[in-house]
Amino acid sequence: MIRLSLLGATGSIGQSVEKLLADVPGRFAVEAVVGGRDAVALAEVARRLKAKFAAIADPAGGRALAEALGGSGIASGAGPSAVLEAAAREADMVVSAIVGVAGLAPTVAAFGKGRRIALANKECLVAAGAFFMGEAERRGVELLPMDSEHNAIFQALSAAPGKAVEKVTLTASGGPFRCKSREEIARATPADALKHPNWSMGAKITIDSATLMNKGLELIEAHYLFAVGPDRLDAVVHPESIIHGLVSFVDGSVVAGLAVPDMCVPIAHCLAYPDRLSTTSRRLDLVELGRLTFEAPDRARFPALKLAHDAMAAGGAATTVLNAANEMAVAAFLDGRVGFYGLTDTVAAVLDLMGDRPAPQSVEEALAIDAEARALAGKLLPKFAAKAS
Ligand code: NAD
Ligand code: MG
Repeated sequence: MIRLSLLGATGSIGQSVEKLLADVPGRFAVEAVVGGRDAVALAEVARRLKAKFAAIADPAGGRALAEALGGSGIASGAGPSAVLEAAAREADMVVSAIVGVAGLAPTVAAFGKGRRIALANKECLVAAGAFFMGEAERRGVELLPMDSEHNAIFQALSAAPGKAVEKVTLTASGGPFRCKSREEIARATPADALKHPNWSMGAKITIDSATLMNKGLELIEAHYLFAVGPDRLDAVVHPESIIHGLVSFVDGSVVAGLAVPDMCVPIAHCLAYPDRLSTTSRRLDLVELGRLTFEAPDRARFPALKLAHDAMAAGGAATTVLNAANEMAVAAFLDGRVGFYGLTDTVAAVLDLMGDRPAPQSVEEALAIDAEARALAGKLLPKFAAKAS
């Protein structure tokens, strides 16, 4: 029986984890579940998964959570300290699937010797990659990438040692605006941007997929996870989302990871690693697909990709700032407070003003830079809201 805690239990990844756990009764025992604001939804997941402890991040949600759990025998808590307590509880594996930099402190709180962290939350690595990886190693944590591209690359990397790697390539679906003109994209509404062609995901990552910032964040994620330099990392648009990641070796061999676009595939890989879990996911049928296509990302229509690549190459706290400004700008776009290009213009402006800080050496330092970059983004956003791109 593997003891598992699920951070972000009410989200899109959380639901896929729950679905897989239901398919293998008796294999996992759920220790703790964590959610953001929805006490009723969290209590329902906690009951279904028979968790021992449920924590809600919103301090005001404690009473509603306790009430919704009434009679279940499941203990609960509310606020940041309860979330950290949930993350730190004894478990063999912790799934890190909170959205945004909010996942950083809980994920680090889950670190412990021999503990396996299945990492869906990419913002941890974007905000504090050098610290995060160093700390994971120092504390004897085993990191398993759950993001589909990184999971494919992780599996491909097992083909040869790191020295033999020439290049790592991530694929991108291209998002809903792949074939739209700049003028059409400039007028995009949140509803347009939330229509992802291949994946069903939370709102923040869906907007990031429309700007291609998601791919930028993922290049940074790969940079830290696999210790690959910015010059050996690349992204290619592949609208079918069948090949997720490729590793090119020095002898010209290329090992790629393929699967239908279903997060249950990489999640199942992490849950059972190094074994394999038998899933009911649709199987890949190459003949039915007929062809797979590829194109270079258009950096003019999707400036976020270059912003992220430049921040990664700049190092220091540039990616911390990028992440914070992006979280603020995505929230503003979703609320209709800024347009599509105003979103990335805000991130660029915050990076211009704050991009040269030294890299954070702790969670606290990362969160302090994050807070400062958010405040600056908050000040600049109205300016970009007014300006039509
Ligand atoms: P989501 O919005 O569907 O779910 C987010 C979860 O985090 C919810 O349970 C929410 O309640 C919780 N949460 C939000 N704020 C919180 C806070 N302050 N403290 C504690 N919990 C909080 O997001 P998602 O799509 O499941 O994505 C989760 C993470 O996984 C993101 O970092 C995303 O980039 C990554 N990821 C998602 C997918 C996907 O297919 N959805 C794929 C790859 C990577
Ligand atoms: Mg991904």
